[in-house]
Parts: sequence; structure tokens; C-alpha cells
Amino acid sequence: MRVTIHLECTQCQERNYSSRKNKKNNPERLELKKYCPRCKEHTLHKETK
Ligand SMILES: [Zn+2]
Repeated sequence: MRVTIHLECTQCQERNYSSRKNKKNNPERLELKKYCPRCKEHTLHKETK
């Protein structure tokens, strides 16, 4: 049930992080505040595949 996901910056669309999640526990799209090296600040990152 564990799948690999990528986290994409919502401001510049850069994929900065990869992660894993359990689809059963987290069926919704993950949204995390992470540091984006391109924006040089903390931005909202959304799950992408
Ligand atoms: Zn960014």
C-alpha cells in the first residue's frame, strides 16, 4: 500500500522532495510547507506523481 510520491512547489512547480506515503492512511493529496531552493523560501508543496 505504500507508494512513492513527489512534492512539487506550488509557486515554481519545481519538484524538490520525494517521499512515501501510505495510500490507505492518506488518500488525499499531501500538502506540506517545505523549503524550496529555487524560490529560496518556504512554500507550499503538493503531492505529485
Ligand atoms: Zn519553488
